[in-house]
Amino acid sequence: MKKYSLADATRDAMKKFDIKASKKYGQNFLIDGEVLQKILDVSNVNKQSMVLEIGPGLGTLTRQLCERAARVLAVEIDKDLVKALKINMSNYENFILVNDDIMRLNLRELFRENFGGAKVDVVANLPYYITTPIIMMLLEEDLNLSSITLMVQKEVAERITASPGGKDYGVLTLSVQYYSIPELVTIVPAEAFMPVPGVDSAVVHLKIRDQVPVELVDEKLFFSVIKAAFAQRRKTILNALNGSSLNLDRNEIEEALSSCGIDSKRRGETLSMDEFAVLSNKISLFLK
Ligand code: SAM
Repeated sequence: MKKYSLADATRDAMKKFDIKASKKYGQNFLIDGEVLQKILDVSNVNKQSMVLEIGPGLGTLTRQLCERAARVLAVEIDKDLVKALKINMSNYENFILVNDDIMRLNLRELFRENFGGAKVDVVANLPYYITTPIIMMLLEEDLNLSSITLMVQKEVAERITASPGGKDYGVLTLSVQYYSIPELVTIVPAEAFMPVPGVDSAVVHLKIRDQVPVELVDEKLFFSVIKAAFAQRRKTILNALNGSSLNLDRNEIEEALSSCGIDSKRRGETLSMDEFAVLSNKISLFLK
């Protein structure tokens, strides 16, 4: 006899609660048990863990997290799914459900109320339409996170884990690698979801750094230089910075580049994080 699978359970739950997967909210439910296990393994969630799950959906991942963690706080935007979760998850006392848009919440306050001062692990199968804003919000808001384990589009995973020189390397790469050490755990085919999305996905694990990896005079300027360098990727670093809003004249940029030993004809996409750090520190001297 055929085993009752995650796909069967998902189909049955959707029928029971009359749920149609919403495109608007990026609802592609995970139905592959092996992938689910990989997410749980790499997340390192254990009996001490305080977990934030974004978009619990029908609760497939949520249940497993509740079995393993001290406490799971889940934020779901869709009120129909919240109704289903309230029933399906009612026997887990370590489960807290918030019906809201993750981008509108004050997470620091929510964490303080529910987790005290403990470090938090984020685990999520993210909705595609809002992946990058969520990742950047989690990283930039100084939330006392320990790790972030995510299902994202394969292309996003490749950008996050890219090295200098390739087409995937850019602002997202440098931002994520500034705050964390990312690992591409596994590529996940589209068939692992219901409904089947148009693209493949991947699981990434971000270990949040205790200390940033470069010494900076001005962190904001560092990211402005990076954004300027990638705003026009095809241009040389000299021309990209010269045409940017950094307010430097061409001679100053040339001087900064040469004093860092960076060839002004190189493209921004070839510069390492260390080089961007040294360059932005030099540029800060001209802006004083
Ligand atoms: N975790 C479930 C799973 O793995 O099967 C569902 C994942 S599905 C890709 C994304 C989930 O995020 C959906 O449940 C969707 O309703 C929810 N979602 C979408 N936008 C959201 C937002 N802004 N804030 C919170 N949840 C959101």
